[in-house]
Amino acid sequence: MSASVCVLGSSSRGNATAISFDDSGKFVLVDAGLSPRRVRQSFVDAGASARFHTLRAIFLTHLDRDHWSPGWVRQLQRAPVPVILRRAHAEMALSMGVPPACLRPLDGPFRLGDTADVQPIAVPHDELGSTAFRFDCEHARIGHATDLGAVTDDLLEAFANLDMLSIESNYDEQMQRESTRPYFLKSRIMGGRGHLSNEQALVAAQTLTAAGSVQHLVLLHLSQQCNRPELARSLFTAALPSMANALVISRPDAPTPLMRIRRSEVAIA
Ligand SMILES: [Zn+2]
Repeated sequence: MSASVCVLGSSSRGNATAISFDDSGKFVLVDAGLSPRRVRQSFVDAGASARFHTLRAIFLTHLDRDHWSPGWVRQLQRAPVPVILRRAHAEMALSMGVPPACLRPLDGPFRLGDTADVQPIAVPHDELGSTAFRFDCEHARIGHATDLGAVTDDLLEAFANLDMLSIESNYDEQMQRESTRPYFLKSRIMGGRGHLSNEQALVAAQTLTAAGSVQHLVLLHLSQQCNRPELARSLFTAALPSMANALVISRPDAPTPLMRIRRSEVAIA
């Protein structure tokens, strides 16, 4: 038995990650910024249809358009599943069409059925913040953090001893500064409540992989205007050579390979 993860797409054009905690074919989505049709197509593209065939819940980091596609409103009316988010996002979710009967606002950690313990961690992003999630199931310990302007101590603490770390690596600082983007946008992105730069993501990854248990290190949400996959890859592999084979860079328009995780046997001090 193993857990499986596939990042179906990740960019400002849409984010969604599928996680299966076991071999049952049931899966959860973290973010639903791709339409239901694209999610289904991504499973085919990734060769993962057998692995992900029954959606059991949607976790939302926040409600920006690239994390919540309006196509899910009708889908959830037809086939309701819980939409799980921090209580701070509940009102926004209702205004974006999440059916009230599906809404599950969180005030803290909880257990998802008999499969996984879930810990939501508030992280700084625009006015309402975003949410990082830690999932602990029998087969894996998975951390997912995207759309955060800074790596907080709370996040580092919650993400200790993971088997899989997915973290945003949004922009190259020089490309951001030299871009033609307006000043207000650059300040929003780089001002501590926007997105993580490659360098900020690297510093977090260095801390969070130090225990030696991380089998997959996934970079999320690369900016198409202010980043390049090869730039991020060379930065990470130079600074973290031991993670070079574990490094996966998500793409805007195609799923990552299916990543299987078995809980690491590495002893934790
Ligand atoms: Zn986003």
